[in-house]
Amino acid sequence: MINIGVLALQGAVREHVKALQAPDVHVTIVKKAEQLDHIDGLVFPGGESTTMRRLINLYGFFEPLKAFAKNGKPVFGTCAGAILMANEIVGQTEPHLSVMDMTVERNAFGRQRESFEARLNMNRIGEDIEAVFIRAPIINKVGPSVDVLATYDGDIVAAQQGPFLACSFHPELTDDYRMHQYFVKMVREPALHA
Ligand code: GLN
Repeated sequence: MINIGVLALQGAVREHVKALQAPDVHVTIVKKAEQLDHIDGLVFPGGESTTMRRLINLYGFFEPLKAFAKNGKPVFGTCAGAILMANEIVGQTEPHLSVMDMTVERNAFGRQRESFEARLNMNRIGEDIEAVFIRAPIINKVGPSVDVLATYDGDIVAAQQGPFLACSFHPELTDDYRMHQYFVKMVREPALHA
């Protein structure tokens, strides 16, 4: 049995819990930093990154989350969750948790495209994957050890760096759970992504 947590400070938590279901997976709704000691992988849901950061500080999650990632435990950030993981955010002087070598730009699709759906072909994961974008960021630069998993209209919308996975969209809002299944595999077989 593996234990995967969903950070439950704000945002779309329930949908991630559902998307992670598998016979050998126990899902923990993480509300206290101590719970991180008992989990093998963690999902940062979408929501609002500045609000989530405020709650991370308020509930004493900042250092424990950094330590979790530093120990090489897999983390999967979706939308605002990906913003939390970036080591650079366009227009902000400081990043949040800085676990992936990438620059993100918030709300990068503009007003006309606040929310939309697209079908993506994703390296390592599969073809024709349904993706829901809601006030989504773009990953506009990645470092040499980051693999681009998907682009949309030429912009990077999913990337992986070893045990860390990030996407601009909300894979939990469709019933195509291939991205979650891929993350579960990363947690189950850490050696593959070390
Ligand atoms: N626009 C939000 C932010 O900047 C992210 C939106 C989302 O997670 N759907 O944090």
